[in-house]
Amino acid sequence: MARNQYAVIGLGRFGTSIARRLHGAGQEVLGIDINEESVENAEAYVTDSAIADSTEEKALMSLGITNFDCVIVAIGDDIQSSILTVMLLKNLGIKKIIAKATSKRHGQVLDTIGVDWTIYPERDMGERVANQLLSPNMLNYIELSKDYNLEEIMLPKKMIGRNLRELDIRARFKVSVIAIIRSGDIIISPSPDEFLQEEDILVTIGTRNDLAKFSSLE
Ligand code: ADP
Repeated sequence: MARNQYAVIGLGRFGTSIARRLHGAGQEVLGIDINEESVENAEAYVTDSAIADSTEEKALMSLGITNFDCVIVAIGDDIQSSILTVMLLKNLGIKKIIAKATSKRHGQVLDTIGVDWTIYPERDMGERVANQLLSPNMLNYIELSKDYNLEEIMLPKKMIGRNLRELDIRARFKVSVIAIIRSGDIIISPSPDEFLQEEDILVTIGTRNDLAKFSSLE
């Protein structure tokens, strides 16, 4: 895998878990925090670390911040620091900036400054939990648009041993099965004659409501 250079500013729970995952995947990660203790706690999960105030241009420049492909601003509660940091990074011409928002207004400001990806961790996690409760057989999903999702759904028990033609899933549930994951292999555009097996995972597209109904089947 290509090595990318990431800088994570703010090593709280959110920043540290991003750093940890990236570092675990062999990526180069610089961790920055104004607080010495936060830096110490994250040291095992970063390639390099620095105690610095990210609202100071000089501090960022001395860390060579402009050499990084992607900078993640994971400062949460201190909205002013988050916004000042993002503005500085934007002015320095950082290619990709990702930032955590703690409220809708905070997020709107970040969007206005031109953050590439604004993340609302608690709101997003809450939605995921609710979606999981509404769709117990759903394993994973991607939002394709406001209404449509792509979802991986465990095959409902009563569909085991039947083929796609007789099940007529598209007409009955308004859900398209675009692939089947079976024992780690993927069958793309499965034939209508494909018989479904226990533990098959259906890769489906549909509206969130239709998919929720489909993935609640016994
Ligand atoms: P989480 O909810 O992810 O734990 P926090 O808001 O508690 O998020 O943590 C944010 C981190 O950002 C803290 O460790 C804090 O010290 C750090 N931080 C806040 N302001 C700055 C700043 N100006 N420069 C660098 N780090 C900062």
